[in-house]
Amino acid sequence: MVEKNLESCMQVIKAQAEASGRTGADVTLVAVTKGVGLPLIYRAIEGGVEHIGENRIQEALLKFGPIEEYAKSKGRRLVWHMVGHLQTNKVREAVRLFDLIDSVDSVRLAKEIDRCAARVPKIQDIFLEVKTSFESTKYGFKPGEVLPAIREMAVLKNIKIKGLMTIAPLEDEVENARPYFKLLRELRERINESGVLNYNLMDLSMGMSDDFKIAVEEGATFVRLGRAIFGERAL
Ligand SMILES: *Cc1c(COP(=O)(O)O)cnc(C)c1O
Repeated sequence: MVEKNLESCMQVIKAQAEASGRTGADVTLVAVTKGVGLPLIYRAIEGGVEHIGENRIQEALLKFGPIEEYAKSKGRRLVWHMVGHLQTNKVREAVRLFDLIDSVDSVRLAKEIDRCAARVPKIQDIFLEVKTSFESTKYGFKPGEVLPAIREMAVLKNIKIKGLMTIAPLEDEVENARPYFKLLRELRERINESGVLNYNLMDLSMGMSDDFKIAVEEGATFVRLGRAIFGERAL
């Protein structure tokens, strides 16, 4: 099942990327493995998954060892994404475990990540989470707060802002998710035009199982898929 689901997700990504003038290779699939047992995750890795997303430090800590070992035994290297809300007291652990933190939702959190990354030392890649709607989530910068926040973060030497992330609200019609993805893309353009950073933000982490088709059309470079690969979560 996992292999088949993965294949059809990849097909959708490729088709939608091509429809919007890109290629399937421009979009990275992040398999979100929260609540998923190791055997299914191993099958996803077999099926070609390279990016793993977790939303809780506690769960990631338990799964990181065995999953890394499995990948290594197959000669594979994984990229780990923290996709859930991160509390400042868990930052040290997060910086140790994750290649990317997709869900940075305050300047305070960015500063703490910078501080912990400096002690490793590493440069921690991050995305800024944007609340593109009122209902989508409790967390994230409001669109108007992003540019001032980046100005404050620009002095932090041990983080690198790679792009923006959003969670669209659940809609009856997936088409209704389009404005949120469009907003995130336009926000990225505005940031790049402002010249606030000395490089351009390239990445947009947007699109989940129900709406990734639309997100890819609107320019997603990362989609975060759980149920579309592993089936419904038994939570
Ligand atoms: C769970 C989760 C996903 C994946 O959700 P699905 O609907 O199962 O695809 C993506 N992003 C975040 C932040 C999540 O917490």
